[in-house]
Amino acid sequence: MVTEVFTRKYCDQHAVRDEKVEATEVIQFAWEGQVREIDACDECKKEHETRFEPLVDYSRPVKKRRAAKKAEPAKTPSAEAADASADGASDEESAEA
Ligand SMILES: [Zn+2]
Repeated sequence: MVTEVFTRKYCDQHAVRDEKVEATEVIQFAWEGQVREIDACDECKKEHETRFEPLVDYSRPVKKRRAAKKAEPAKTPSAEAADASADGASDEESAEA
């Protein structure tokens, strides 16, 4: 037996209004630093674009933030050298006999 399974995506924005419209596009946007996705039909994708296009004009791309440690190659070596003399690593005491 040969079977084929089709997955159909519906426009999320239309689904809110209880309408089933096939989604042909994916809208990606970021909110509070989190990238999110919406399945969208052609119409909603265009609506989204006209809504956000003006914002793009006066916004700037965001560079991905890294964990603070690797953030920058040390450009100021003198600042790091001052910190090296403080040795607080031997704070651990063995409680076992
Ligand atoms: Zn739609």
